[in-house]
Amino acid sequence: MAFDRYGQLKPTGAAAWLREPSAEFSAICPFSPAAGDEDELALRHFPAAAHKDPLLGRFEVAFVGYAEEADYRANGSSGGLVTWVAKELLTRGMIDGVAHVTENANPQGNEPLSRYTLSRTLADLRAGAKSRYYPVELSGVLDEIRKIPGRYAVIGVPCFIKAVRLSCAADPLLKERIPFTLGLFCGHMKSARMAESFAWQMHRDLREAKHFDYRMKSPDRPANWYRAQMTLMDGSTSALDWWHMADGDWGAGFFQNSACNFCDDVVAETADIAFGDAWHEPYSSDGRGTNVVIVRSPHLLNLIQVGIAEKRLSLSPVEPDFVIATQAAGFRQRREGLSFRLTWPRLGIRPRKRVAAGSHHLSAQRKTIYLMRYAISHWSHRVFWLARRLNQPVLYLAWARAVLASYHGLAYSRGKLGRFLARIGFGGIESRR
Ligand SMILES: Cc1cc2nc3c(=O)[nH]c(=O)nc-3n(C[C@H](O)[C@H](O)[C@H](O)COP(=O)(O)OP(=O)(O)OC[C@H]3O[C@@H](n4cnc5c(N)ncnc54)[C@H](O)[C@@H]3O)c2cc1C
Repeated sequence: MAFDRYGQLKPTGAAAWLREPSAEFSAICPFSPAAGDEDELALRHFPAAAHKDPLLGRFEVAFVGYAEEADYRANGSSGGLVTWVAKELLTRGMIDGVAHVTENANPQGNEPLSRYTLSRTLADLRAGAKSRYYPVELSGVLDEIRKIPGRYAVIGVPCFIKAVRLSCAADPLLKERIPFTLGLFCGHMKSARMAESFAWQMHRDLREAKHFDYRMKSPDRPANWYRAQMTLMDGSTSALDWWHMADGDWGAGFFQNSACNFCDDVVAETADIAFGDAWHEPYSSDGRGTNVVIVRSPHLLNLIQVGIAEKRLSLSPVEPDFVIATQAAGFRQRREGLSFRLTWPRLGIRPRKRVAAGSHHLSAQRKTIYLMRYAISHWSHRVFWLARRLNQPVLYLAWARAVLASYHGLAYSRGKLGRFLARIGFGGIESRR
């Protein structure tokens, strides 16, 4: 895997692979039409699940809450539950290491900001808490797992967990050594350029960063007011709210990986347990952070129940509709949006999805939103590439502000364009979550 000019990880020689994909590659790529889908994998792993929901998949119980113990919540991006569950598995001796995404200390030059690492100690695991919206790849940690005997947990976004499941099905050694998978809900993956753009908007160069926090926490601000912070080599910091960035509206799709246009799994349906943010009042206003959790494996349900009984976790069971409401925008994009995108003409491999092409009846406004989001994703990579090459951040930032204003006009009836569109009965139909 190597970074392309847009800051996205691609298999090297991708064109040749795609022309003639090997049977081995086709069986483990999560977007391959020849690989099993999420429903098949979930049925294989959770055949006796208590519930089966068309959006949430198979599961035992869903909860809302956070880690009460120590400072897992304060140090996590959300309620700190991912690190808490991984720590329980590690300290109870159920695993020897955790594959997760940690920060590359002092990224210099072309070194990536984050990467998959195997943490074997509690200190290393805890140092890796927090969400990293940065391209990563699994080959190094999977090789290490193959090489060094032991039992491991893998943390990942839905397509990564699916790739791990498919790899385990193809490789008995991996299957034996990865008894647990911990999924993160996912809206979409960003390219490496998002962090660079955020640094530009803080009037900094990302190469000066010692530490980059995509979601700095502040208990006195609503949890969904994301704020990015860069710590420089001299210890000083620069921070900016995502809302004040030209490309900080997640839903507009800036720097989205194009594969995410063809994903239909928001909640890591193949993972033993999956975690997201409780984007629903009163939780979204609580700056300390709150998780929604979907427990699919009876083993992990037991672990969670012990944590609740010992008051180390504060969790309440919730209905599927609650979890779905926290991810409403993600499900629209991955269901009705996907069904629309699948109707577009396309060369090459046709993805095989659980959503049928054209299966939703969308208004002209909604179709325009999906088209615009697609165009923003596509062009953000290219305009940023040009601005970076010419060393003219203003070129990209002016473009991004203009398209964001148009997107907000259409989706939320904001600004002059939004008022005009609202007058003619077009626009203002999107809600953030
Ligand atoms: C690209 C991306 C998109 C997301 N989209 C959504 C969304 O649309 N809706 C939603 O509710 N939640 C989303 N999340 C999940 C959310 O950001 C939190 O990670 C989740 O709520 C868990 O929070 P926590 O406090 O329990 O985790 P923490 O205790 O902070 O632990 C997070 C763990 O995840 C690991 N990690 C961080 N980044 C990655 C990564 N890129 N790949 C694999 N492991 C990683 C860390 O190393 C750490 O071990 C997304 C996460 C990512 C990385």
